[in-house]
Amino acid sequence: MKFILASQNAHKLEEIGAVLSEFGVEIISAHDAGIDLDVEETGTTFEENARIKAEAIAKLSGMPTIADDSGLEVDALNGAPGVYSHRFGNKSSDYERCQYLLEKMLNVPPHLRTARFVSVICCIFPDGSEILSRGTCEGEILTGMRGENGFGYDPLFYVPKLGKTFAQLSQAEKNAISHRGNALAKFRVQYKEWLKDAHE
Ligand code: IMP
Repeated sequence: MKFILASQNAHKLEEIGAVLSEFGVEIISAHDAGIDLDVEETGTTFEENARIKAEAIAKLSGMPTIADDSGLEVDALNGAPGVYSHRFGNKSSDYERCQYLLEKMLNVPPHLRTARFVSVICCIFPDGSEILSRGTCEGEILTGMRGENGFGYDPLFYVPKLGKTFAQLSQAEKNAISHRGNALAKFRVQYKEWLKDAHE
């Protein structure tokens, strides 16, 4: 069976593809399925945005469609950038967004620099049924960038129990503890249930 991922993000394709391959599912990007639709994320929650993206592409493709909406919630910024993580400060690169976050956090003392990554995965099936799963990962925002791996805010996101930022982890190490890895583990359990129900 083929699933479509409503994203062009190669990191997400790889992470989600690795979990679904266990079920014999092949995952392809919307672009590779011939769909080039830029879905506007008009929701105010990760759940709403994940559903908006999955529904739009599922409607066009008629195939099971997965979307992930994710972001960084910084406690000292009252949960910002949150659902606006990819357009934070209207900056156009990951590096600029990291620098912008550092500026915003300039006067925040170490013990108040707590944050979490959130990922919500939504899958819409052709019969209209839906799986929704949420994963989080707790950490702290450093005062400078550290590490070369990953993407987005990874170089600023420090995980105390590992003594490293996300950008200092291998892909496998990140998947084992990340918000998306977490959401995918829950998705996997729910997908098993869905398969059972669908065959009853
Ligand atoms: P979206 O889920 O494609 O709307 O993008 C959310 C934004 O949150 C990304 O562009 C990144 O800036 C940030 N983000 C989400 N997940 C991660 C991650 O695993 N590492 C670093 N940044 C992330």
